[in-house]
Amino acid sequence: MSQELLEEPKTPLAPSSTHGEIEDDYEAPTATVEPEVPLSRNEMHLAMLAAVALPPIGMITAMVMAWGELFNGMYLAVLIVMYTLTGLGITVGYHRLVTHKAFATRTPISIFFMIFGGMAAQGPVVWWSATHRRHHHHSDCTGDPHSPHASRAPGVIGWCTGFMHAHVGWLFRDSNDNNYSYVPDLLSDRVIMRINRLFPVWVAAGLILPGVVCGLITMTWTGAVLGVLWGGLARMFLLHHSTWSINSVCHVWGWRDYRSDDESRNNPVMGILSFGEGWHNNHHAFPTSARHGLKWWQLDMSWLIIRTLKACRLADKVRLPTRERMAARARAK
Ligand SMILES: [Zn+2]
Ligand SMILES: [Zn+2]
Repeated sequence: MSQELLEEPKTPLAPSSTHGEIEDDYEAPTATVEPEVPLSRNEMHLAMLAAVALPPIGMITAMVMAWGELFNGMYLAVLIVMYTLTGLGITVGYHRLVTHKAFATRTPISIFFMIFGGMAAQGPVVWWSATHRRHHHHSDCTGDPHSPHASRAPGVIGWCTGFMHAHVGWLFRDSNDNNYSYVPDLLSDRVIMRINRLFPVWVAAGLILPGVVCGLITMTWTGAVLGVLWGGLARMFLLHHSTWSINSVCHVWGWRDYRSDDESRNNPVMGILSFGEGWHNNHHAFPTSARHGLKWWQLDMSWLIIRTLKACRLADKVRLPTRERMAARARAK
């Protein structure tokens, strides 16, 4: 495959950063006074890890216990296929293609990814992109819609509420609706706006499609209902937490290979579960790169899809950081 790829531009697509030039590591706001707390920092990290990990473990346990009539290989396959398609709709479509313009592709392919992104029920594509560009613009500073660090209260309670705000609480803040100044290019794109307006249709389709498939395979109404349950609702639950964990987990746990103006982390577990988005420090260091897993061993399913599209001449203008820029921004070991 040709390696003649576009160098990633030095600034993200969003309006110029409030951080200015990156010279030193960003220090998250810290409180000077720590109140007396019931848990140590390590105990607190362990408690939050349990809060994040136990619900999916509980769900997997429920799946095992329900194995047979209510859950079997067919429902598992439908769940995995729908998780993968809608997950790639978010990562390849909503995120790398629409939000960061990390590559270009033919209109039917971009519509395909945007529709499956819509089925993930994470919001209309323009709202999602606007919110995400604002995240990059203010990352971990005041104005970031979902930072676990910015403006958080001190101590254990502040740390926990900051984490939960980054994971899911931010969705219920009114300020999320004021981000459209970040997306003038999307607001003037007729195809994107049409897909955007039909968002409720895509969400409904994401529930109906697995129901129809399972209903036709089993030729029963029970099969159709269970198809909606596993391939629709359960799949949405798992993908929601996977995506939200990029905002919460990947700004708290993991390591930092590159200097970025925030607390973003590379987290291998999320790298796998979220199709490459867990290499989040790489992404914040090079926001418009089509590839997030920058090392050969950093599995990045979304990049493999984009690279395959390019090999088939279905994608071009693929942006990647040069070796020089990666070396210049690498953190000292
Ligand atoms: Zn981030
Ligand atoms: Zn991004």
